[in-house]
Amino acid sequence: MIIKKKLIKQNEERKKENLIGKVFSKRITRKKFLVDSLILSLGGLFLGNCKSSNNVKKDKRIIVIGAGISGLAAAYTLNNAGYEVIVLEARNRIGGRIKTINFNGFKMDAGASWIHGTTNNPLYAFTQENNITTIATYADPSYLYDVDGSEITYDDWKEVEKNLEYLCDKAYDYPEKSLEEVSDIVEHQLSLSDRMRRLYYGAVRTEYEIPDGGDGKELSSIVLISNDSFPGDNVLFPDGMEKVTAALAKGLDIRLNRFVTKINYESDSIEIFYTDSSNVKDKISPYSNGDFSSLSNEKMVKADIVIVTLPVGVLKRNIVRFVPELPSYKVEAIERITTGSMNKVFLYFEKSFWPDDGYFFEYFKEDYENMMVFESFSTMGIKNILLAFLAGKQSRMAEKEDIPTVKELVMNELKSMFGTSIPEPKDIYKTSWYTDPFALGSYPHIPPGSNLSFADKIAEPIDNRVFFVGDSTTSDYLSTAHGAYISGISAANKIINL
Ligand SMILES: Cc1cc2nc3c(=O)[nH]c(=O)nc-3n(C[C@H](O)[C@H](O)[C@H](O)COP(=O)(O)OP(=O)(O)OC[C@H]3O[C@@H](n4cnc5c(N)ncnc54)[C@H](O)[C@@H]3O)c2cc1C
Repeated sequence: MIIKKKLIKQNEERKKENLIGKVFSKRITRKKFLVDSLILSLGGLFLGNCKSSNNVKKDKRIIVIGAGISGLAAAYTLNNAGYEVIVLEARNRIGGRIKTINFNGFKMDAGASWIHGTTNNPLYAFTQENNITTIATYADPSYLYDVDGSEITYDDWKEVEKNLEYLCDKAYDYPEKSLEEVSDIVEHQLSLSDRMRRLYYGAVRTEYEIPDGGDGKELSSIVLISNDSFPGDNVLFPDGMEKVTAALAKGLDIRLNRFVTKINYESDSIEIFYTDSSNVKDKISPYSNGDFSSLSNEKMVKADIVIVTLPVGVLKRNIVRFVPELPSYKVEAIERITTGSMNKVFLYFEKSFWPDDGYFFEYFKEDYENMMVFESFSTMGIKNILLAFLAGKQSRMAEKEDIPTVKELVMNELKSMFGTSIPEPKDIYKTSWYTDPFALGSYPHIPPGSNLSFADKIAEPIDNRVFFVGDSTTSDYLSTAHGAYISGISAANKIINL
């Protein structure tokens, strides 16, 4: 049985710095850049909430493709401004990659769960205006275990943090290289002991690879220096993040099970073709391009303006055809942003066996490429559930494997931390975002050799008639729910001000 020593309790200063194992309250060690100016650039964001405006062109019909948070935010803003808006959604539910499940009586978020940063964050402001309950979560205390089962001390971790900071500084010298390459360069320079080397690579895994949904070779070193969060707390939703999408969706004309196959924007009146999602669902895979040539029963709606919220994984595979084809700069931009794979495995136990006050648990093994991170909800009063985060190759593999295999995988990690006599879970639920036909990836990331400017290229509207929003269209807040929300509102405001 592993002896679990509680991490030395933090003093107030350390609490503020939030030093320990800051998983998913992403990128604490990264350089904070331009946060203030980004906030300024959001000026006028709420314009669309005004009920009326002199330059509102209510005769324009707008179709939004996708009822994720970006599409709903756009539709909500336009609807409030008096426009006729229809949302076409392929799934039989709203929310997209915000999906709350009922897991043994508890509301758990299978997709996004946190708002990253509450200060000046428009999405957080929306939750407050709509009385949606949130709860701040921290990373301290978290329990980090070494291969021999001993707990990693605060002093050890401070040393790891120092090395990570050096790594972040070095990333500026190698923006074209992968996270793995720069991590290796820095590791050589630091001449670390075997133990520190293991902790260093483990921390790269838990602080960057897992939150960014990729292995080191799949990610640009830019992940080390980009900051997509707002300042302030990271908050979760005790009643599920679906409360946000439900509040946005109220009163909107949303048509479910409508899978859009083609957008013809050749003439002033844009034609949007769609079919019942059951006709295509099984034909879509991340491993091949969809072939819908045999579809016969498509329907069509017309619009003056279309807002496309398709995830970049979907855009990449040409599943939805654009007529005429998208301009080459946009095709290139879509190619230069990749979709990551990060999946969650929820475990329900009859009784908890982990420290009650811990937020995260991590096991720093030699094979750091297969590390995972566990989150506990005990501090929220949910004592029986642990959640494992898997990323990259391991996450894609877990999607393919059956539940018993995935259970063994995560239980082995837990046994390494808490001993072999821990109980078996009573229930298990795993997500499959990489193969989800309407997401084809968890969230976007920047591959080696690419950069964030391609997100802004995806965002550029075509002739102010075809707009692109979503979590791959914002260089400031790539791959976040708040980024998607802000992109939806910004596009709606552009339309209102045309
Ligand atoms: C496991 C996981 C954890 C995450 N954790 C966080 C987190 O804690 N905090 C955070 O900020 N972000 C997190 N994210 C990212 C966040 O979920 C996304 O950035 C955000 O939800 C994206 O919203 P969106 O509107 O851009 O895309 P989506 O939510 O994907 O919406 C696009 C919509 O388009 C629909 N669609 C697709 N194809 C078609 C078609 N052909 N026709 C019609 N409709 C179509 C889809 O069904 C979907 O509803 C997480 C994501 C995942 C997967």
